[in-house]
Amino acid sequence: MKVYFDSAATTQMHEEVIDAMINGMKEKFGNPSSTHFFGRESKAEIEKVRKDIAKYTGVNASEIIFTSCGTEANNLIIRSVVEHLGVERIITSVLEHKCVAETTKEVCSKKDLELLLLPIKKDGNLDFETLEKYLKDSPKKTLVTLMHANNEIGNIYDIEKIGKICEENQAYFHSDMVQTLGHFAINLHELPVHFASSSAHKYHGPKGAGFAYIKKGTGLKAQITGGGQERNLRSGTENLHGILGMGKAFEMANQNFDNEIKKIKSLKKYTIKKLNQAFPDIIYNGKSADLEESLYTILSVLLPFHDSLIGFELDLKGIAASQGSACSSGASKASAVITALHDASVLKATTPLRLSFSIYNSEEEIDYLVQSLVEIAEKQKARNQAKEN
Ligand code: PLP
Repeated sequence: MKVYFDSAATTQMHEEVIDAMINGMKEKFGNPSSTHFFGRESKAEIEKVRKDIAKYTGVNASEIIFTSCGTEANNLIIRSVVEHLGVERIITSVLEHKCVAETTKEVCSKKDLELLLLPIKKDGNLDFETLEKYLKDSPKKTLVTLMHANNEIGNIYDIEKIGKICEENQAYFHSDMVQTLGHFAINLHELPVHFASSSAHKYHGPKGAGFAYIKKGTGLKAQITGGGQERNLRSGTENLHGILGMGKAFEMANQNFDNEIKKIKSLKKYTIKKLNQAFPDIIYNGKSADLEESLYTILSVLLPFHDSLIGFELDLKGIAASQGSACSSGASKASAVITALHDASVLKATTPLRLSFSIYNSEEEIDYLVQSLVEIAEKQKARNQAKEN
């Protein structure tokens, strides 16, 4: 049996997405910048996807800029805000994905900008009072970059509240929405955000396609310069077939939210029930076990035994899940986020595991997973006893 519980790292592509890409590959190949028929045809396909994404997210098509991934969208926004909007300070938190964490660190160190990390609470939520205090106590031109939902523990953050605090203090607000766009119906114009990012492979689209939302009139400029594609914000011949796949995936996601959320939430609920039965001392990270305040796609736990090889052992049983931080497979120690939530003594006695779901999972797979975890725990217990004797 091969089962996949790592959909927060990447998702399996929908058949319809693959078909849309293959048809595009067979029928459309013109360079979208060429003025002849072949080019115009490709350009029209890209603009159609842009319009569709803009429609689903409630923005103007000109505010959607295609990129190669979420990482690039975040880099484009953060680097350009620093370079072209003259911010003097960045406020972020330890919760951010590496592409935000590393980028903010690098630009702040290069440009000698102040970098403030918001403290996080034991439930993985952010301390908004400190954000207000930071902004009010020292009024500086600031970029606040805080994600919409965390890719490791699944907490969803109140970006309306964060955006309002930013508005009141004239700060720019960027939100990494890689784990929420394509997972929930989101109207970006109704949210007080200036910038956001998305990645197609997180919602059953292809790898190598993403987009940045850049609010009209904010004055960002390109990081990748050249032919002036993407309204001069991201040069380079567009990934036509990737964009077609992303368009199909985004459309499918937006047309099926109700069903998908219901089905995946019920799988997550079932997993919690089964895990509680098998491991009464299990710990849920952040708000992970709260079906309303966390992503329906992510369940992050500390198993009540220590086993640094759990990823390997699950792999031997054909189970794919993530142990350390998201998207950095192979990591076998607790990530910065998990470390920030628990005392060292707790981490020493437990094993972090992130399970992430999609509509392709089933209760049968969850039964197999929990049974496998029980077997792994027993083996680990036997190993520990042998060591003691
Ligand atoms: N931001 C978050 C929250 C993520 O989970 C990921 C996943 O890898 C990224 C950014 C990076 O996206 P991509 O893989 O498209 O570069």
